[in-house]
Amino acid sequence: MKIHEYQARQILQAAGAPVPNFEVIDTPDQAAAAVKKLGGGNLVVKAQVHAGGRGKAGYVVLSDKPADIEAHARRMLSVPMVSKQTGPQGVKVSKILLAPAVEIDKEYYIGMVIDRAKGCPVIMVSKEGGVEIEEVAAKNPDAIIKEWIHPHLGLQAWQVRNLTAALGLTGEAAKDCGKTIETLARIFMEKDCSLAEINPLVMTKGTGGAPGKIMAIDAKFTFDDNALFRHPELEAMFDSTEENPFELRAKAANLSYIALDGNIGCLVNGAGLAMATMDIIKLHGGTPANFLDVGGSVTKDGAIEAFRIILADSKVKGVLVNIFGGIAKCDVIADALIAAAKEIGFKIPVVVRLEGTNVEKARQMLEEAKIPALIGAADLTDAAKKVCKAVA
Ligand code: ADP
Ligand code: MG
Repeated sequence: MKIHEYQARQILQAAGAPVPNFEVIDTPDQAAAAVKKLGGGNLVVKAQVHAGGRGKAGYVVLSDKPADIEAHARRMLSVPMVSKQTGPQGVKVSKILLAPAVEIDKEYYIGMVIDRAKGCPVIMVSKEGGVEIEEVAAKNPDAIIKEWIHPHLGLQAWQVRNLTAALGLTGEAAKDCGKTIETLARIFMEKDCSLAEINPLVMTKGTGGAPGKIMAIDAKFTFDDNALFRHPELEAMFDSTEENPFELRAKAANLSYIALDGNIGCLVNGAGLAMATMDIIKLHGGTPANFLDVGGSVTKDGAIEAFRIILADSKVKGVLVNIFGGIAKCDVIADALIAAAKEIGFKIPVVVRLEGTNVEKARQMLEEAKIPALIGAADLTDAAKKVCKAVA
């Protein structure tokens, strides 16, 4: 689950990290009051969307004129944001964050993810933080310094020193940055994050002979969905308007559904079988339109909803149903297929491969139902070939 920057700032603030004050608005006419609350001056206006790349898209702007701030808020709230991370259709903005602008001397990156190859969390830092971090990672990976964290021992003081030294920091700045790295690591572990990042963590310009300060001015957290039950306070931060509507419907029906770019809809039971199904479709020259695991204990209603979701996607030109009846029963799927054909009508070919528990009964049911769009398959390879041919 992803959250917005303003929610990430709340979490960081509560954990004691240096985050400037902010206000969140959802209509342009709230801008004036928010500017007043922040005490005016030079402010940053930022679209709150789950996608990144806002700076380059023109959805992070600085201004000290209340009228301009309101105009930017109005523009961001009315024109969908198109960035590197959104696709050409863009994303709608429903909330705007206003915060004091800071005079930036240097921008750093600090982030934490799970390193799947090593099986433990990894902290990454870079001197070259800011809006170009993706390019730095691609073109100059040596500029990203890493420390791996032992799951039981946790982040060690010497690792924090390594990281702040890699950023070229000394004295108070190193201490403050180290504290923020520790705070980020603590949040990552306590809240079961899959990603926690501050980009940029900035060193502000010193004023009147005083040195600059370390501050977090953009943050992003993603949480492990499987651990959300332990964190009701995080679940409350869920924003359904940012999610794919079909993925939301699937979630409500207990289906694991992920929309993809291809044109072959897949209805499969079991995540492993779903992956294998997508692989074999690819092998035979097709492209899957989705990943859909109806689960082992699928009911007729669940399977019908799965058909509704797959067939609502206009890109889908053919469907492959691949069921291995272990706990799931083939006749339940056949029953759902027949009901879905009646309710929705199959206007595109539906290739069916059933195997396992009650398969004979299921085959007989499908035969008697005489659904014109249905194409039977002998095995998985046969099914993949048939569906790829049907959509070609
Ligand atoms: P995104 O990562 O989505 O592009 P950021 O919040 O990181 O959005 O903003 C992009 C850039 O805008 C930052 O790298 C920084 O240079 C500048 N910026 C963001 N917030 C502020 C701020 N409060 N004061 C001054 N500059 C800022
Ligand atoms: Mg950023």
